[in-house]
Amino acid sequence: MERNIESWRIAYARGKAFLSLHDPERALKSFEQALAECPVGRSKELGKILFFLGVTLKKLGLSGCALRSWSAARKLDKHNFSDKFLERFTNRYGMIRQETPELDDWNAFYSIQLGRYLATKRSKKIGTDAENDMIWDLIREGWNELRQSVDLSILSSCERLALFGNYRIVFPFFSVPAAQESYESIPVDFTRQRRISFDDKCLCGSGLPYRLCCGRIPCKDELAGGIF
Ligand SMILES: [Zn+2]
Repeated sequence: MERNIESWRIAYARGKAFLSLHDPERALKSFEQALAECPVGRSKELGKILFFLGVTLKKLGLSGCALRSWSAARKLDKHNFSDKFLERFTNRYGMIRQETPELDDWNAFYSIQLGRYLATKRSKKIGTDAENDMIWDLIREGWNELRQSVDLSILSSCERLALFGNYRIVFPFFSVPAAQESYESIPVDFTRQRRISFDDKCLCGSGLPYRLCCGRIPCKDELAGGIF
C-alpha cells in the first residue's frame, strides 16, 4: 500500500516535469497514471492532478476534455486554479470559447445535434471520415435553415439552447435509441419549485454554475471519444 501511494506521487511529479518540458503526450500518460493510483479519499490531491491533466489536454488540443477535467477538479477542491481556467476558456454556454459569438452559437448547435446523432449509435462514435462529413453537412444545413427562420440576436442563451435542442434533423438511424430524450432532460429545482437557469449554482452542490457543471454540453472532442 505504501509503495502504491509513492508511485502516484512520483507519476504526478513526473507529469508536471514533462509539462514544463513541453512534452504534453508524456505528461498525459503520467497524470493518467497518477489519477488511477491516487487513493479516492484524497480529494485535494485528486483535484490537483485533474487540474494539471486539464492543462495537458488543452495543450493537446482536446479543449472539451480539458474543460471536463477542470470542472471535475473544481468539484473536488474549491480552492484550486480550475475556476480561473474555466472562466478564461468558456463561453456563455459553458463550452470552449470560439473567436466570435456566432461561432459559439454554431458550436453549441453542432454539439447538441452531434450528441443526439451519436446517441442513436451503439458505438457512440463516428466511424469514418465519410460519416463525419455527411453528419456535418446535415447539421450545417439545419443550422442555415434555423438561422434564416429565427433572429437569434433577440434570444437569451437559455432560449437559444432550447431552440437548438428542439430543432430536429433527420439523421440516418443505426439502431433505435432506448432513451433518446434523456439527453435533453430539463433540470428542475424541486425545493424552490422552478427550472434551473443556466447561471444558477448547480444542484449537485459543487458551487459551480450549472452550465459549467452537470449542465455542460459535451464538446466535439469529448463526443468523438464516446464520452457521455
Ligand atoms: Zn453539478
